[in-house]
Amino acid sequence: MSWEVGIDEKIMLVAELFFVILGLIVGSFLNVCIARIPRQESIVFPNSHCPHCRKPIKVYDNIPLLSYLLLFGKCRSCGQRISWQYPVVEVLTALTFWATFVLLGVNLKAVILLIFFSSVVILIFIDLNHRILPDVITLPGVLFGLLFSLLTPVQDSTAELVLRTFGLETSNAIFISFLNSFLGALICGGFLWLVAEIYLRVRKIEGLGFGDIKLMGMVGAFLGMKLALLTIMLGSMMGAIIGLLFIKLCGKDTRYELPFGSFLGIAAIISALWGHELISNYTHTLYRF
Ligand SMILES: [Zn+2]
Repeated sequence: MSWEVGIDEKIMLVAELFFVILGLIVGSFLNVCIARIPRQESIVFPNSHCPHCRKPIKVYDNIPLLSYLLLFGKCRSCGQRISWQYPVVEVLTALTFWATFVLLGVNLKAVILLIFFSSVVILIFIDLNHRILPDVITLPGVLFGLLFSLLTPVQDSTAELVLRTFGLETSNAIFISFLNSFLGALICGGFLWLVAEIYLRVRKIEGLGFGDIKLMGMVGAFLGMKLALLTIMLGSMMGAIIGLLFIKLCGKDTRYELPFGSFLGIAAIISALWGHELISNYTHTLYRF
């Protein structure tokens, strides 16, 4: 038996490494977007600079993850701490790129998912920092989700179910895919809007922002209704658990505003990658009892 790595496995390892590095580089750009979009600054000019001393960051100090580790998380000029968020965004992006490659390989669907994940990572951290989900990302997100459904099929059975309910039938796969995307955006955005309205009427305070509703419109347009509903479920569970822990451990009061959009974003990434598997495992377990 040979313990050497075969040529195919070597190529696979190199490809995986390529996607990790690509993810780190894209993550580094996402950091710029996260910092500048809320301030309505250009994401292209000027070059990166230290937020404390404003000195431009040298090219060799701007290598994703590596520079942060080599500089022990401190600015070379002024020695102030660089936020932990920079490496976290880079590593998270790299992980999503790696997982997408391993699960889907290289194809149009994977490219579309990477665009989706990159937008979602920006939203996760802007919501975490500022409790906003900027329209400049969510609204084009809805539009691109709808457009991309014309290029690769959105896997969902909602469109066919709705058509059948109205006694309609079509074998046009592109139309069905687009309808799945459209219904995903409409139903999930609408569902969250309804929850927001009820919450507002009952508790007299705003629990959900319009940003969350638009974000779910975007998730629905990209993933279809089933995975988007799974996103809402997972995101709410995460929010409830982490929220309770936060209140218990950190002594925050119950009005502490959680970054719900951040939880929805993380849930959307999980749903997009493993959602169909999660749903089928769950229904299998249900049938067993
Ligand atoms: Zn500095």
